[in-house]
Amino acid sequence: MGKAGAMTPHAKTTHVVMGMLAEGATLYEVLDFPGQGAIRMPHPAMSSGNVAVITGGASGIGLAAAMRFARAGMKVCIADIGPDRLKDAESRLASIAPNGAAGIMPLSVDVSRIEQVRELDGAVQKRFGGTDILMNNAGIQPGSQMFGPAENWQRILSVNLWGVVNGSQVFAPRMIERGRVGLIINTGSKQGITTPPGDPAYNVSKAGVKAFTEALQHELRGLNSKVSAHLLIPGFVFTGLTARGRTEKPAAAWTAEQTVDFMIEKLEAGDFYILCPDNDVPRKLDERRILWAAQDIVENRPPLSRWHKDYAEAFAAFVKQA
Ligand code: NAD
Repeated sequence: MGKAGAMTPHAKTTHVVMGMLAEGATLYEVLDFPGQGAIRMPHPAMSSGNVAVITGGASGIGLAAAMRFARAGMKVCIADIGPDRLKDAESRLASIAPNGAAGIMPLSVDVSRIEQVRELDGAVQKRFGGTDILMNNAGIQPGSQMFGPAENWQRILSVNLWGVVNGSQVFAPRMIERGRVGLIINTGSKQGITTPPGDPAYNVSKAGVKAFTEALQHELRGLNSKVSAHLLIPGFVFTGLTARGRTEKPAAAWTAEQTVDFMIEKLEAGDFYILCPDNDVPRKLDERRILWAAQDIVENRPPLSRWHKDYAEAFAAFVKQA
């Protein structure tokens, strides 16, 4: 079993266990011939014919994941707001899915509204028979200020945090009940871990997603469930959320497709924390930033000391030690 209870992580093995690439087929071992590198096989939840539900699936990271799952022959439901966006995404997905539009289900859903999330679950159940992969990914980042309007804070928390809670609470019991290998992937953010100044409501929402998803995985582990939860932590990704008028990807950013490729690789490895680098920030630097933030408490420093002028030199030196 993998670290998150899903599968064998990076197993060195001289044999490969293979299903057929037909409905319900699983390909789940790692083949590693000396000198030839590892040939990765898909996670069993990502088998052809299985079902993926992706919130915020009509653009950006969600759509890139939907494209990957659809191309693999999975049935895909994208839940998003905005009929035009959903329609465009549907035709893109249908054009690459082996069974065309038959395996694609676009649904207008506001994830902050639990009754709509329940309807989503019901509709997927009715058309596709259940869910193997749930990606709670819908998110907004309109900006926020500490003493800004309460409605702004409430909207950010209700989409980014309550959307994840709603999705997990509505879908997980049925996914567990099915007794099949399943994945719940919640999209967090580095801003929910190192909580940089500038967008406090977004940070609070994503810190909540982290705490919730950790607790969810702990719960699933205790139930010996075949469903595991995972926290996707994207780096800087060029999407509608970050474009801010730009039409070309900044050099620092990853594409949504790169992010999804990385996510799938880490899910196959059984990782819970899927900490994505980008073209500016390698993993080592993220590790130092995360450690520094945690040590604010241990060292009894002021909060967010990374951005405190008295600690600028110490932080720079700490990063250099890596
Ligand atoms: P995006 O704007 O392209 O995608 C977000 C999608 O969520 C959109 O299609 C939007 O319509 C949908 N959405 C918004 N509110 C919704 C609601 N109430 N109900 C249903 N759908 C809703 O942006 P993205 O970058 O692909 O964002 C995906 C996730 O990744 C978000 O949770 C975001 O916070 C997170 N993230 C993104 C980055 C980045 O650099 N792009 C970094 C860290 C985390």
